[in-house]
Amino acid sequence: MKQSYDAIIIGTGQAGPPLAGRLAGAAMKVAIIERKLFGGTCVNTGCIPTKTMVASAYAARMARRAAEYGVNMGPVTVDMKRVKARKDEISGWSRSGVEKWLKGMQNCTVYEGQARFESAHEVRVGQDVLSADRVFINVGGRAIVPGMPGLDQVNFLTNSSMMAVDFLPRHLVIVGGSYIGLEFGQMFRRFGSEVTIVEMAPRLIHREDEDVSAAIHDILEAEGIRLRLNAKCIHVAKRDDSVVVGVDCTSGDPEISGSHLLLAAGRRPNTDDLGLEKAGVIQDKRGYILVDDELRTNVPGIWALGDCNGRGGFTHTSYNDFEIAAANLLDNDTRRVSDRITAYALYIDPPLGRAGMTEAEVRNSGRRVLIGTRPMTRVGRAVEKGETQGFMKILVDADSKHILGASILGTSGDEAIHTILDVMYARAPYTVMQRAVHIHPTVSELLPTVLGELKPLASQEGAVGT
Ligand SMILES: Cc1cc2nc3c(=O)[nH]c(=O)nc-3n(C[C@H](O)[C@H](O)[C@H](O)COP(=O)(O)OP(=O)(O)OC[C@H]3O[C@@H](n4cnc5c(N)ncnc54)[C@H](O)[C@@H]3O)c2cc1C
Repeated sequence: MKQSYDAIIIGTGQAGPPLAGRLAGAAMKVAIIERKLFGGTCVNTGCIPTKTMVASAYAARMARRAAEYGVNMGPVTVDMKRVKARKDEISGWSRSGVEKWLKGMQNCTVYEGQARFESAHEVRVGQDVLSADRVFINVGGRAIVPGMPGLDQVNFLTNSSMMAVDFLPRHLVIVGGSYIGLEFGQMFRRFGSEVTIVEMAPRLIHREDEDVSAAIHDILEAEGIRLRLNAKCIHVAKRDDSVVVGVDCTSGDPEISGSHLLLAAGRRPNTDDLGLEKAGVIQDKRGYILVDDELRTNVPGIWALGDCNGRGGFTHTSYNDFEIAAANLLDNDTRRVSDRITAYALYIDPPLGRAGMTEAEVRNSGRRVLIGTRPMTRVGRAVEKGETQGFMKILVDADSKHILGASILGTSGDEAIHTILDVMYARAPYTVMQRAVHIHPTVSELLPTVLGELKPLASQEGAVGT
């Protein structure tokens, strides 16, 4: 059947549904297409379920530490079926919320099935061919399955299949020491599994500064997680009931024998089965759709939002893509991707909150830079909570006084970072924050103190005259 619309949206991730709401609200006739689970990655296999499980793991950890706080408890056990049921319930609320909202939306028709372009402005879903002048691609991404020798011989898990795990793996071996691998690793260690994380790079989350990587390394190792860095030539094999991961590391055993293998080696966009070639939409060599600053592809009338455009990789960046597209189309408000400041969190415990540039990036930028740091052992709230791991670091442009970036690794670091982020968005000098009265006792109350103790970056002492 042929149907014509004002707008077609492919995918119900973080950008598609709110965009459907705005376009339908502006009296456009909208079609939205979903091939699997409403709400996409964040709701079903990403942020929401993992952070729900991180909360269970935190409860297990605090129960084991209860005596330190004067609370007596018996032996702590984790019921993985209950952990999964709680996760399923919370994730399920979100999924059904998105589905009901879209299906009840006026001017919006929901199609369930695989969408493929037939031409620049025609999209097929099963027997239906939909056409529209405007097409928005919000197809997200999925786990990369790396071409490791032996992978076809063993069972492995990804962030998606991990969602079905309702038992305690005896020994979880994780390939990938970045954000997803670390979150799952600490979580399952706290549930009671043995955990080994195998990483090819010389350090964990190597996009972060070395001091941040090193502090996270110590936090995870202190919980009994084994870390195998510099792992080259990773290969896998099945041996009896175990999966054996062979690595060529500079130190340590050449083999790790685990009960389960989780692949957390990155993500790839869902653009390989979309018929993009029929629409003439250009991708880069990794499959990300190329977009301009307002998220338009090379084909007039086609936009790409969220993870599939390679410009963000987070729920908040995908949602911001919706805001940018809607503002430009409907509000005569020129919003751009380049106005966005890098911001994200790593949800190990304690979490890492990040804003703006890393120290390595500011060093390479050639600016004169000031730095302020403080260990969490000198943050009253952290001491009171008995959670003193980590540190905070703020980088400031010595000339403009603008904050360039910050890392807060520590209790509430994912929240406190927003104080920094908002000053950066305001394009205000850091001195503004020193006049603000922050609440005691919080982690954020120490940010003005850190800013009061700025020093020139180590190799720039002579250059920054303060
Ligand atoms: C384990 C994990 C933890 C994460 N934790 C966080 C976090 O804490 N914070 C954070 O900000 N981000 C996190 N992320 C990233 C976040 O989940 C994604 O950035 C976000 O979901 C991207 O949303 P999206 O809108 O691009 O697309 P997605 O949410 O991926 O949705 C795309 C949708 O399109 C559908 N689709 C794909 N192709 C087609 C097609 N051809 N036809 C029809 N439908 C199609 C898919 O089924 C899917 O429902 C995490 C990711 C993972 C994997």
